[in-house]
Amino acid sequence: MQLPVYLDYAASTPVDPAVAALMNDCLGRRALAANPAALGHAAGRAAQALVEKARAQVAALVNAQPAEIIFTSGATESDNLAVIGTAQFRETRGRHLVTALTEHKAVIESCRHLAARGWRITWLRPDADGLIAPAAVEAALEPDTVLVSLMHVNNETGVILDVGAIGAICRRHDVLLHVDAAQSAGREVIDVRAQQIDLLSLSAHKLYGPKGVGALFIDQERVRRVAPLLFGGGQERGLRPGTVATHQVAGMGEAFRLAAERLPDEAQHVRALRDRLWAGLQQLPGILLNGHVGQRSGHILNVSVAGVEGESLFYSLGGLCVASGSACTSLSNEASPVLRALGRPVALAQSSIRFSFGRASTAAEIDFAVGCVVQAVAHLRSFSPVSVAGG
Ligand SMILES: *Cc1c(COP(=O)(O)O)cnc(C)c1O
Repeated sequence: MQLPVYLDYAASTPVDPAVAALMNDCLGRRALAANPAALGHAAGRAAQALVEKARAQVAALVNAQPAEIIFTSGATESDNLAVIGTAQFRETRGRHLVTALTEHKAVIESCRHLAARGWRITWLRPDADGLIAPAAVEAALEPDTVLVSLMHVNNETGVILDVGAIGAICRRHDVLLHVDAAQSAGREVIDVRAQQIDLLSLSAHKLYGPKGVGALFIDQERVRRVAPLLFGGGQERGLRPGTVATHQVAGMGEAFRLAAERLPDEAQHVRALRDRLWAGLQQLPGILLNGHVGQRSGHILNVSVAGVEGESLFYSLGGLCVASGSACTSLSNEASPVLRALGRPVALAQSSIRFSFGRASTAAEIDFAVGCVVQAVAHLRSFSPVSVAGG
């Protein structure tokens, strides 16, 4: 077992060796060095063929058409383009959006950017389990609502929203639905047609692909167009100008192809690890599960530990690469806003740990992690005057 044990797959995943090999090949072969927009010569056409192959592979994972996939620099850019681009393009129809307090910062900050420029935003608050009922989305719609933006699988808790039911509601009210699927792609089944999703954000590095590349699905018939955020050449249907990074995009395509092939096996693998982790951690008094017990994806387990100080807990887990809800470890300097939105008090939001696992994770690593946490908590509680019940 390699130390520290990597249990932070929700933050980023290692690049699959097959993906790395393909990317290396792209970078190393002179024949593929051309600009994929240089269709006047054979080298350009070879590069373009690789890009188009990747576009089809990405589309296939979510049941989209290849022409509906725009390559971007990652899910952050896809979220920005979906939220701001749609709002700007549909401005004359209305200036109201619906989203949630538990969204990724890429959606939250895009909405705040719009709010500062006159758009109205309804911020849905999830229930204590992190769920947002489709009926709550419907109740938030107004005559001038143009977009609902909600994530499929939450990156902190792993909770799964019923995007299909939300999609049906949005269609009924003729409102567009954007879904951030950075965590769910390759882990849960996504079908943009069956789930009636109009825009979908994807990231390569959350799914064993390279960092710095992602995609946005844009439904050809329902959306047709969004306002671009960047201006330049006409690449990616003019929505995302700039030379397409052949090796990055090819790597993403291969990663998504592998993910499609392995989805059922991998879902089962991570679910078994998660259940083993939770069974092991439950021996600790004062441990709480964050997020709905049943409606969640298998690759994330988020817990809070009552009666220990979050920062001390996090720093006593040096043998593990995990994420923490404590303010000191986040860029935002506040205790996890997602757990706060679920109604967790500051102390419990601070003492949360997010474990996330994937393809290479093993039962031995999970058992090691349980041992680390049990030992750290026992040690901290041996000095701590705070009672477990006090939280
Ligand atoms: C990681 C993540 C993002 C950002 O993706 P990048 O490709 O790193 O920009 C957006 N949304 C969710 C839910 C994520 O987990």
